[in-house]
Amino acid sequence: MQEQGAGAGPQERQLVQRVARDYYGLLGVAKGASADEIKRAYRKLARELHPDVNPDQAAQQKFKEVTAAYEVLSDPAKRQVVDLGGDPLGGQGGGGAGAPGGMGDPFGGMGLGDIMDAFFGGGGGGGGRSRGPRSRVRQGDDALIPIELTLEECATGVAKDLAVDTATLCSVCHGNGCAPGTSPATCDMCKGSGEVQQIQRSLLGQVVTSRPCPVCRGFGEVIPDPCRQCNGEGRVRARRTVRANIPAGVGDGIRVRLAGQGEVGPGGGAPGDLYVEVQELQHERFTRDGIDLHCTVHVPMTAAALGTSMGLHTLHGVEDLDIQPGTQSATVLTMRGQGMPRLRGTGIGNLYVHIEVVTPTKLDGRQVELLHELATLRGEEQPELAARAHNGGFFSRIRDSFVGR
Ligand SMILES: [Zn+2]
Ligand SMILES: [Zn+2]
Repeated sequence: MQEQGAGAGPQERQLVQRVARDYYGLLGVAKGASADEIKRAYRKLARELHPDVNPDQAAQQKFKEVTAAYEVLSDPAKRQVVDLGGDPLGGQGGGGAGAPGGMGDPFGGMGLGDIMDAFFGGGGGGGGRSRGPRSRVRQGDDALIPIELTLEECATGVAKDLAVDTATLCSVCHGNGCAPGTSPATCDMCKGSGEVQQIQRSLLGQVVTSRPCPVCRGFGEVIPDPCRQCNGEGRVRARRTVRANIPAGVGDGIRVRLAGQGEVGPGGGAPGDLYVEVQELQHERFTRDGIDLHCTVHVPMTAAALGTSMGLHTLHGVEDLDIQPGTQSATVLTMRGQGMPRLRGTGIGNLYVHIEVVTPTKLDGRQVELLHELATLRGEEQPELAARAHNGGFFSRIRDSFVGR
């Protein structure tokens, strides 16, 4: 067992330079093939030709060739050279910066599983393998902050200034993590490849596995003199004020996205998005059900019997509400267009007014007299009260409209 740098050795480069030049033909893909099609074609061929599964000499030669073809066509810069009629491998001479991974030699090289991991993302827990060093710069995460809004604010939309704590770009090093005047250095352990290889002997011969370099954590470079401000992270936590424009029609749990206002990534990577999550405050009069609103109005028994007109405070102002003579308790009156606007849509909900008729209490002598007289006139002094079956559906409907949602 030994550890060594993963850079391509001189022998590999010679092998690569001897392969045929029809890279598209080798993979069996059309000239305009997408990156995905190229990947799939190579994966299929590698499964057939890799020495782990196919010991045939000709297959091994073919495997080298298709691997080289994949190397070229999966690299946009190299592929462009091919499309212009050139040969990126043939013209490479000493093979400088462009040949990091060293996939050219399948013999002493990686097992099939390692190839699959390296080329198509292993996803194994120990940090996904990749060819060459991974970037220090990574996309930042999204951030989420709550915002409390009244029902009125949800109805009209509102612009709010929010204090937001997120990672922000380091103003001293602008993300590269180096103290002013210094720069990153190539890692001594892995010579910049970002990974170290372990060679083990097995029944199949040498099996080489690679893992991220422990010194540079796979970056291929180290920061000898980290920025004091951010400790080399390229980002610092800071509080800033962000203006959030909340559209009309939002409600509890709705998230409004502010693009690019989230966390700045490691190494000063592009920020994620900021999500502002609405927490709708309970309204003193209205219960919300989507775009509809519900409220309860108490009507004195006499007004319910005689009918009346009243001014009702809706979300949008005072509106006339007509109570018809003979209105019963639990009557629901609909006020069209007095609900909530639809979020990013057209239309507006209704306001449903649930009437509760209030039986008078604390009657004085004269009032009792009048009610007796009324009862006599209506033949209601000895009313026959017939019991009716309790209709659960009716009561639960009423209850639902209040508890809502
Ligand atoms: Zn810094
Ligand atoms: Zn290293």
